[in-house]
Amino acid sequence: MRDIDHHIVGGPGISASRFGEVFNPNSGQVQARVAFGDKAALDRAVAASQQAQPGWAATNPQRRARVMFKFKELVEANLEELAHLLASEHGKVIADARGDVQRGLDVIEFACGIPHALKGEYTYGAGPGIDVYSMRQPLGVVAGITPFNFPAMIPMWMFGVAIAVGNAFILKPSERDPSVPVRLAELMVEAGAPEGILQVVHGDKEMVDAILDHPAISAVSFVGSSDIAHYVYRRGVENGKRVQAMGGAKNHGIVMPDADLDQVVKDLSGAAFGSAGERCMALPVVVPVGEKTANELREALIPAMAALRVGVSTDPDAHYGPVVNAAHKQRVENWIQTGVDEGAELVVDGRGFSLQGHENGFFVGPSLFDHVKPTMQSYKEEIFGPVLQIVRAPDFETALRLPSEHQYGNGVAIFTRNGHAAREFAARVNVGMVGINVPIPVPVAYHTFGGWKRSAFGDINQHGMEGVRFWTKTKTVTQRWPDGSVTGENAFVIPTMG
Ligand code: NAD
Repeated sequence: MRDIDHHIVGGPGISASRFGEVFNPNSGQVQARVAFGDKAALDRAVAASQQAQPGWAATNPQRRARVMFKFKELVEANLEELAHLLASEHGKVIADARGDVQRGLDVIEFACGIPHALKGEYTYGAGPGIDVYSMRQPLGVVAGITPFNFPAMIPMWMFGVAIAVGNAFILKPSERDPSVPVRLAELMVEAGAPEGILQVVHGDKEMVDAILDHPAISAVSFVGSSDIAHYVYRRGVENGKRVQAMGGAKNHGIVMPDADLDQVVKDLSGAAFGSAGERCMALPVVVPVGEKTANELREALIPAMAALRVGVSTDPDAHYGPVVNAAHKQRVENWIQTGVDEGAELVVDGRGFSLQGHENGFFVGPSLFDHVKPTMQSYKEEIFGPVLQIVRAPDFETALRLPSEHQYGNGVAIFTRNGHAAREFAARVNVGMVGINVPIPVPVAYHTFGGWKRSAFGDINQHGMEGVRFWTKTKTVTQRWPDGSVTGENAFVIPTMG
């Protein structure tokens, strides 16, 4: 049995009394065990971070950027190994696993330009002989807590920017697929980052709480489910930390009567079922506008779903693989039953799916519900599996209200040929990321990622310039260089520049 240890300076070999099981979702077998750390393990990591960070912050930004360039090169050189390792623990197909790594690398590319992004503001002559300038300084030791569904991309969203601006970063990845984060930390050392600048600690709630309570950790970025995001946000903020906490999602795709239905069906197949629906930017709800659109869409979806190939991660022809573990498979199947019990029409039932030769794998076939109502629990909650729900809307205004009033507000898409409708929709919908004829509108790395409502707690997004702001603090300097002569009166009122 393979053991997965923390990546802490001075490790491996930190004794752990608790371990988690890491499955291969394709076979259903336990393939490794991961050490669960505690406060003592975290203390060691924090001490190493504190040792390394001042020197790293004092390294000029161009040199820090060179480490990022080298890291990108190393990740690219190791892409196949990383993608296979990722797929073997997560279950997504290899092509999708490569995409997971690549979308993280996009943020590393952004971080390669950090000298430019860190430039401050300057006002010459803000008052008589007075100049004002600002600088962005790193926070010190910071941490990230990440979910299982993007074990490469989401850690890189966070540490790419956090490290480039001069922080030391401690990553607590998901305990379900912890190997790729460890490999990334090894590659960061190989790229030239000093030991202690990127460390990985494993664990569950105990480790998360230790991070949230640690006085030397000044900022925490979290991505995961909403209840835990809210908890992390509250506890971190209570302890005086800067916290951003991204949560769950239930993204809607609005299909207007003038949309290109062939294209919509293609886009929906990928966006609803790709990665077994385990994406926070998946499209698990489709809202056709008008009965005719709904009927045509439903008829086109049924054969498209029948053509989906569910297979092991290494099957190059598979569209999607297993879900992450047995408990999650059960959870998804329970939600399907709830939908049935609530009176939605189950058009395609993906339960009880078995893949020949991989009968113990955690596979779920694609499911389709029609006549789902906004009052149903299975509509209100995130299922996070290969389940697509049709919610019929009579008109544009009703379709607009559905995602706007939903508790989650991560992403949304509208499919239409009408520019005016698209423009209205984008401006009025109460959701953070909008796609117009784009089913998974994940913004590029130099823009920023973040949902609204229960999809994100805190007010600053991931990566792009918002990431730079999150991982730095602004210092503003007001300076005067007198010529040596003493002038002016004693000033007892607040200085004004006028
Ligand atoms: P999760 O909330 O179960 O776990 C996320 C992290 O929290 C993990 O590192 C885990 O170890 C830790 N954790 C688990 N239980 C905890 C507890 N009781 N107390 C403290 N920490 C705990 O999420 P997941 O199942 O790994 O990931 C899927 C979820 O993440 C979905 O809800 C998905 O929508 C969401 N997600 C959101 C985004 C986004 O950007 N909004 C992106 C990806 C995933």
